[in-house]
Amino acid sequence: TADSASEPRAGRQGSKPMTATDIKVNVSIPEAAERAAVTGADGVGLLRMEHMVLSTNKTPQQYVEDHGEEAFVNTLTDSMRTVAEEFYPRPVRIRTLDAPTDEFRQLEGGEDEPSEHNPMLGYRGIRRSLAEPETFRLQLEAFRKLYEMGYDSVELMLPLVNDAEDVERAKSLMREAGIDPEKRDWGVMVETPASALCIEGLCETGVDFVSFGTNDLTQYTLAVDRNNGTVADRYDELHPAVMHLLHSTIETCRDYDVATSICGQAASKPRMIRQLVETGITSISVNVDAVADAQREVKRVEQQLILESVRD
Ligand code: PEP
Ligand code: MG
Repeated sequence: TADSASEPRAGRQGSKPMTATDIKVNVSIPEAAERAAVTGADGVGLLRMEHMVLSTNKTPQQYVEDHGEEAFVNTLTDSMRTVAEEFYPRPVRIRTLDAPTDEFRQLEGGEDEPSEHNPMLGYRGIRRSLAEPETFRLQLEAFRKLYEMGYDSVELMLPLVNDAEDVERAKSLMREAGIDPEKRDWGVMVETPASALCIEGLCETGVDFVSFGTNDLTQYTLAVDRNNGTVADRYDELHPAVMHLLHSTIETCRDYDVATSICGQAASKPRMIRQLVETGITSISVNVDAVADAQREVKRVEQQLILESVRD
């Protein structure tokens, strides 16, 4: 369990071509960490906490009611630690809860979830965490326990933020939970147009990184439901409007020395890789099966850029 702490040891690492842009991997469930670690990825760009909860088949509230707060925290800590251990000392970016209410409704205790016409525009991500600080505190406690065990490689990421106010409120809850934002690596998802448009304010909150959630950024920018097959032909992650938000965000973040990353599905598309590497993104994070191709593609683009600069 989470209490049987031992010093972090270095995990396994495969070989990889050297690139200036880091290539990371998205890990879906802790059990997938071992396979992801041997790809030689530079770390985990996205580990979603909601999968740790969904696998218990209970909503967080139900889990706490049945087993108590400490058991809930330990479940999260154990899952996070499995991945952190496999990758240590490579960084592992873990995102706090972001399940829409229709996903939580499938679980035991799900009958208490609010009924929403548009769960994707509703009660999820940081909005829910700020509205239910008692559940957010338990998530933060799991992070704090990992830090205490020595996993300083763990990075905390906040989903679905719109602006600096969301982040400042989350920061005070982090402090209340014993996490010092000045001392830890943490950041936010940029996955709403508002967050991309308010990027200066977000940078001023002291984030170490932002990560593009292009799955959501595309649906919200183009007003195309990512789960609606009827409009699937309109769902274009490389749409000029989406690319505009990505480029302008990277440029502002470079001015503030804030690292930029992409962890949406589009991160494995060669055209996306080329455009973002050219603009100076810090890292890209792809599914385990796409790591090798992404490593090759990034290397190719970087070599091309070097050649072009020599010719200029
Ligand atoms: C995204 O929106 O691109 C993302 C990575 O988050 P999720 O797919 O979990 O919404
Ligand atoms: Mg998202």
